[in-house]
Amino acid sequence: MNGNELYLRDKNVIADVLKLRFFPVVAQRGKGSTLTDADSKEYLDFSAGWAVANTGYCHPRIIKAANEQMQKLSFSSLTSIMSEESILLGEKICALIDGDFEKKVWFGHSGSDANELLAKMLPLATKRPRIITFVGSYHGMTMGSYSMSGHPAQSTFIGGGNVIKIAYPYCYRCPFAKELETCNFFCLKYVKEFVLGSVVPANQVGAIIAEAVQSDGGDVVPPKGYFKELQRICKDNGIYLIFDEVKVGYGRTGKMFGFNHDEVNPDAVVLGKPMASGQPLSAVVGRKEIMDAATGAHLFTTGGNPVACACGLETLAIIEDGKLIKNAAVIGDYLKNEFLLLAKRYDVIGDVRGRGLIIGIELVLDRKSKKPASDLAAVVSYRCYELGLILFCTGISSNVLEMTPPLVLTKDEAKKAVGIIERSLSDAINNRVDEKKVKEFAGWAI
Ligand code: PMP
Repeated sequence: MNGNELYLRDKNVIADVLKLRFFPVVAQRGKGSTLTDADSKEYLDFSAGWAVANTGYCHPRIIKAANEQMQKLSFSSLTSIMSEESILLGEKICALIDGDFEKKVWFGHSGSDANELLAKMLPLATKRPRIITFVGSYHGMTMGSYSMSGHPAQSTFIGGGNVIKIAYPYCYRCPFAKELETCNFFCLKYVKEFVLGSVVPANQVGAIIAEAVQSDGGDVVPPKGYFKELQRICKDNGIYLIFDEVKVGYGRTGKMFGFNHDEVNPDAVVLGKPMASGQPLSAVVGRKEIMDAATGAHLFTTGGNPVACACGLETLAIIEDGKLIKNAAVIGDYLKNEFLLLAKRYDVIGDVRGRGLIIGIELVLDRKSKKPASDLAAVVSYRCYELGLILFCTGISSNVLEMTPPLVLTKDEAKKAVGIIERSLSDAINNRVDEKKVKEFAGWAI
């Protein structure tokens, strides 16, 4: 079947509630950083399937690990039958996290079910009913993780009343209209004095959950020292600090975890997307008292199954070797510098930010008003698709071009992508893209 036929049939049969589409690619094959569609057209994939394919598509070691495990034991349910693969992976993941406290690990399938564990277990474990999260955060699509999220795609939904959302340190659009050079982390002073002072008493708050780079919220990178200070506030008030590393963990930022860029020791860490190179696998690793808060209260029949864990072990071995992490830092720096140069020539680029291979280009109508150029971002993303580059939009106004390519990306591929992005920007600004086609895709539908 050709791509157009598949597109029309997908439209008929696949539910809109699972769609976050910017253009019509039907993937058929993948290798490294390249996807091939049903019409044999090749794309450089600057999404890695929303930051999942860190090791690249069809990595031979992952294929081997999956095949071997499939032949040995295709399935057993960790809920009631133990497996060597889950134990080995669990031990390795516990060892990745610092902090001299007892740790345990839980396995699931997605970032959503992993964050759901926190929504359920934190009040039980801490005997404190409230949880603090951030405006713009994305923690998942199940009821609890939805409630904890602050992205408009989720916060239109009436969630749990026990979640308080505070401002993320989004310095390009500081909600307190401060400048980083002189603000002295006013946003944290606000948390300490107002949020914990009167919005919710500190002794009612079990945890603060943060993304080290707020990814779907627009690839926002907090200033250095922010999390260290946040951890101090948490410690002073007996509040756990937890990082959702579902999207940036496993090397993407140029370090193993996004929070490794600041001096913090989280009480728990949430993992997902790239953990098993695409096999459904997620994890929460954290203090024993959270993970053992109740027996059998957060289990999923196929979560942490042997095939997913075997792929998880092999993925971790590939990432831990360090080459891909280093590549993320080097190629990420190269890309960011190229985009900073681009910003000198295109006024619609309001901000370029990122860490390693998570980079955002925020598009604005003009630099003074900073009004989000959401329609332009959708057109650029579509034009990139036409020119052979997969690139999605993020941000609370969907005006940020997000780059999260596989960590195996080469310099030549990066160069090629920069060329396509520049041409797409130019074509979009000069109305050389058919906007009717772009409008067929709802994107974030916000
Ligand atoms: N946490 C973060 C930080 C995410 O970016 C996402 C997905 N974008 C999730 C959780 C949810 O993950 P999943 O879609 O696998 O449920």
